[in-house]
Amino acid sequence: MAQEHPITRLGGWAGYEVVEDWQERRGGKSWCVLRLEAVTGWLRQCSHCGESTRAVHDQQERRIRELPIFEYRVELVVPRVRVACARCGPRLERLSWLEPYARLTRRLGESVAQLCRVASIRHVASFFGLDWKTVKDLVTSPRKPDSFELEVGRFLWLSRPHCGELARGQVAE
Ligand SMILES: [Zn+2]
Repeated sequence: MAQEHPITRLGGWAGYEVVEDWQERRGGKSWCVLRLEAVTGWLRQCSHCGESTRAVHDQQERRIRELPIFEYRVELVVPRVRVACARCGPRLERLSWLEPYARLTRRLGESVAQLCRVASIRHVASFFGLDWKTVKDLVTSPRKPDSFELEVGRFLWLSRPHCGELARGQVAE
């Protein structure tokens, strides 16, 4: 059995493991690219009905942005699996760490959304090396991460304990 890649443990991409990693230079920036593979025999969920199955219909390679590691911007090469759901037929797999058609992981999306509360969309896009429109869509879309308001609420509450009511009011805007 091949030894587990240490980044697999840290990354927590449930159902997937890192099989290859390399560095690239793009536009003067250092990138770390991680190739993930679907773990064979993993119990997967249909994104439509939630039914569990181990049957994979097919998979297509996708490039997904992830949170940075040290000074590296990170890109995942992920086989996006369609499960063979007994009820619905071929459907995208439901993942805890990636929305169905997202080009960035859930936790990167949450970090982007959090930072957008205190910085402009343009600055946040530049900080993470993302397209301006990607960031704008993320913070204005109704599909923004569920925990966004909760996380921002906690942040404001902890950072401004003397004016908690005001902070709550801002979250509710
Ligand atoms: Zn289904």
